[in-house]
Formats: sequence, structure tokens, C-alpha cells
Amino acid sequence: MVKDRFAGKVALVTGTTSGIGQATAVRLAGEGALVAFNHLPGLSPDETMQKIVEAGGKGFPVCADVGYPEQVVGMLKETVEKGGRLDYIVSNAGINPKLKWDETTLEMYDRLMDVNLKATWVLCSEGAKQMIKEGHGGSIVTISSISAHVGAYDQTVYCATKAGVLMLSKALALVLGEHGIRVNSILPGSIYTGMSRSHPGTVARKFAEDKSPLGRIGEPEEIASAVSFLLSDDASYITSSELLVDGGMLVNAEFNPDEEV
Ligand code: NAP
Repeated sequence: MVKDRFAGKVALVTGTTSGIGQATAVRLAGEGALVAFNHLPGLSPDETMQKIVEAGGKGFPVCADVGYPEQVVGMLKETVEKGGRLDYIVSNAGINPKLKWDETTLEMYDRLMDVNLKATWVLCSEGAKQMIKEGHGGSIVTISSISAHVGAYDQTVYCATKAGVLMLSKALALVLGEHGIRVNSILPGSIYTGMSRSHPGTVARKFAEDKSPLGRIGEPEEIASAVSFLLSDDASYITSSELLVDGGMLVNAEFNPDEEV
């Protein structure tokens, strides 16, 4: 935690009622940002607000189902109206239902694309226009996944959305650099949240213990600290990057010549 790192800045974080989004909203607020934290209609933002206050921070909830572009645009407008400016965006909200490839309907495909990929496009492109209008630059972090690089059972379309999020971030970094806006993507491995717990078939904790050279699953706060770094001026020459925060899971090809077979 770097005190006052984001003093005077306004950050918008999506998907903050739990997991990585909540940890990120709390972290950024604790480091001095005024945080607009997003929640789905009908779900209470109170727990996140309480954690922000406990961290000594400030924030306000913004309601939107990010799967609907008009709600994303409305959320951005509300953020600027209440916060006075926009410096940082964290596109985090996502869904990862357990879906067998041959049982995935077009409706399910569309919802995954809308929430995970189209929302990232609308949020980042419209948010960037606002930053350009304000003329002070900015920093954007998207939450992709190691699933952008490796396939996963029962997550076929999810993998495609996360590869899309990654490439969208890189392509946006290319065009937004001249406006002083950096765009980077984080690729979490297995992180202990509601999402990973909802895939009992993969047994997220055990999977991570076996795959990660560190021998354990990650915590949402460990993604939040990476987000904070990439948003901050400490990362002033970093844009278009993909930061693996996976405890080394991806490097593990599971081949050990010393092991008996
Ligand atoms: P999580 O605890 O389920 O959090 C997801 C958040 O997004 C929740 O606050 C959820 O709200 C919200 N959300 C879902 N659909 C939304 C919508 N249409 N509009 C607005 N908010 C919505 O899971 P998480 O692990 O923290 O996931 C955060 C991000 O990390 C996701 O993009 C995910 O793909 C990515 N990720 C996670 C892992 C992992 O191992 N956990 C690994 C790689 C990448 P409700 O809870 O109220 O529905």
C-alpha cells in the first residue's frame, strides 16, 4: 500500500461486489483515489463501501450491468458527474459459467461476449474519449486471464473473450499513447474468488497447488496490488503489456525428468 499514491485522482472499477474487483476498489481508495465502484442492478454495494471506509478511503457506487452498452455509458457519465474527472479505469467485471462446448447456446455465447469483451470495448473506448477531453492523460487496466493463452475445459467461449480483452488492450495502447493514456492487461492465474470456487470440477485450490511453482492459489489482493502498480506513475513507461499474475502456473509444463513414470 502506497499512501496518497492516487491523491486527487478518480478511478472507475467494474465488478466490485466481490473478488478481484472489490479488492482493487479497496486498494485504490486506500491509496487516495476517489473510487467509483460498479455493481449490478439489484445487488448491494454496501459491503464494498464499508471496506473502502475501513481502508480510510472514499468512493461512491455506480450501478450498471456492463453487458449493456447504454448502461456502461451511463455509468461513465455518473462517474464524471460525481467524481469531477476520470483518471483510471479498471475493466474487471466478468463471468465464467461452466459451459460444455457442445451445450453452449448462441444466447450464452452472446452474453459472455457482451459482459467480458464488448463491455471492455465500450468502457475503455468511451472512457478514453473522456480522458482525452479532460486533457490530462490516464491509465487503463483490463483483467484478462491466463485463459487468453491456454484452453480450459468447459470454458471455450470464455477463453475467446479473454484473448479478445488482451488484444483489445494492446491495440488501444497503440492509438491512445499519443494522448498520454497507457493501457495494460493483467492475466490472473487461479485466484481464490467466487468465480474460481464455482468450478468445483477443476478444484481451483488443488489445481493451483499442483501447478504453481509457489504451491498455492492466489488471493484477490495480489491482483489488486498489480493493478495499483500498473495504474500508477511507477509504471510510466509501461503500456500494451500483459502482466501474468499466475504464481508461475503457465510456465509449468509438468515435465520433470527426475520423476518416475
Ligand atoms: P467474482 O468474484 O465472481 O467477481 C466478478 C465480479 O463481476 C462480481 O462483482 C460480479 O458481480 C461482477 N459482474 C458479473 N457480471 C457483471 C455485469 N454484467 N455487470 C457488472 N458486474 C458484473 O470473480 P473474480 O475472480 O473476482 O473475477 C474478476 C475478473 O477476473 C473477471 O473478469 C475474471 O474473468 C477474471 N479472472 C479471474 C480468475 C480467477 O481465478 N478468479 C482468473 C483469471 C481471470 P456479482 O458477484 O454481484 O454477480
